[in-house]
Amino acid sequence: MKTSIDVCLPPALEEFLCWLVEKGFSAWIIGGAVRNALLGIPPRDWDVVTDAPQEVIVASPFKVIPLGARFGVILIVLDGMPVEVASIRETTPQGTLEADMARRDFTINAIALSYRTGEVIDLFGGMKDLKRGIIKGVVDPEARFLEDPLRVIRAARFLSEYRFTIERKTYLAMKKTAHLLEGVAIERTRDEFFKLLLGDYVKDGLEVLRKTGAFKVFLPEILEGWMKKQNNFHSFHIYRHIIETVAYTPPRLRLRLGALFHDIAKPRVRQKIGERFRFFGHEKLSANMAEEILTRWKASRSLVEEVVTLVKNHMVHRVHEWSDSAIRRLINRVGDELLEDFLCLLRADRIAHGVDPVDTSEVDLLERRIEQLKGHYPHSVRELAVNGHDVMEILKIGPGPQVGKVLSALYRHVINHPEDNERQSLLEIIPLLWESITRKNIDISRLV
Ligand code: ATP
Ligand code: MG
Repeated sequence: MKTSIDVCLPPALEEFLCWLVEKGFSAWIIGGAVRNALLGIPPRDWDVVTDAPQEVIVASPFKVIPLGARFGVILIVLDGMPVEVASIRETTPQGTLEADMARRDFTINAIALSYRTGEVIDLFGGMKDLKRGIIKGVVDPEARFLEDPLRVIRAARFLSEYRFTIERKTYLAMKKTAHLLEGVAIERTRDEFFKLLLGDYVKDGLEVLRKTGAFKVFLPEILEGWMKKQNNFHSFHIYRHIIETVAYTPPRLRLRLGALFHDIAKPRVRQKIGERFRFFGHEKLSANMAEEILTRWKASRSLVEEVVTLVKNHMVHRVHEWSDSAIRRLINRVGDELLEDFLCLLRADRIAHGVDPVDTSEVDLLERRIEQLKGHYPHSVRELAVNGHDVMEILKIGPGPQVGKVLSALYRHVINHPEDNERQSLLEIIPLLWESITRKNIDISRLV
């Protein structure tokens, strides 16, 4: 099928493609940008195919990222935007566009758009599959998954993004080859999985990972909750509750990961006491598991810390009985920057109980009380009415870890007594704190 479509190219990309053509080479847009253009969705990034040799691109005036050169694909940065450029001379022995398209994973990703003519080159029925919403391996699905088992997660990712159907032969090949994900670099698996997590139809994507056996390889912990019952106020078993929670959160990575891990330890701590299941300490253990799993996936430290904070603090009940100090301590534990996501997680967790009527009134109350208290007390040691110099001067001590400890203890005091965050009061409190420490020889950080 040959046709043409209009794609609005960013000027920096246009400049690069124009440069290639002026040098006498051909260039095509391929992959996600073409797929999305045909679906009427804005592109996430741009992938280019060209017959220019790699050396020409490397020597071009455009910014080339040296580490990006793998399997004939170079990463260049155009006006801050990363673009993958595949050189057909290197990606395939034949050195043709046709051969390059044939090495791609799914028919919907093997549609090329000629920069010069605007012509769409669709050799494997990708347009038809896109129209019908079908994910289908190029030519021989099993061979494609054997070549690169990451494609199993990519298929699930496209399902999560577009709610497509996986063609039967492709699906069976995924089931057969999913265990080979074991041999794929965890960073690749993680990156595709993170994209999957952000899809609008994330539940469908996650289900495919469970059914094909992909979870067994990189997230076996999630399967422990499969069919594990909970109490009556939950209508779903643990696994189902977890994925429902994920689906009810807005698509932000740390939040969706928080949802994915918030109850992950429940099957490990479940005990039946009387008529009821109890899950004592599951939030703490879930936080530990989140840390372990994300570290195993080599996620960034800051992401790990954010997710752990969300998970560890998610058990919020009986808010009407909480004192203002308790709310302030929660705000402090979660941190200003994470609060909005934290409330989203609590809300999604409630909705994902699957009972009618949905009751999120407790989260609403918490949100109102947070709003009332926020801004009326210091949110960090730096906002105290005194600083380290004051501590040293009053106590006649030099710089050192004790100064930080006194400030932390003061801060904890102020969370409980915000009215004391006033210079004179704090200056009076410092010696009292200090005296009781030195006299009793106890750890100052546990005071107050
Ligand atoms: P997105 O819109 O999220 O970028 P994408 O399909 O463009 O989706 P990329 O990772 O940018 O995903 O890959 C660009 C193109 O390269 C794909 O559309 C596909 O043609 C090809 N491709 C990427 N990864 C693989 C793979 N593992 N096996 C085969 N082809 C792949
Ligand atoms: Mg892309």
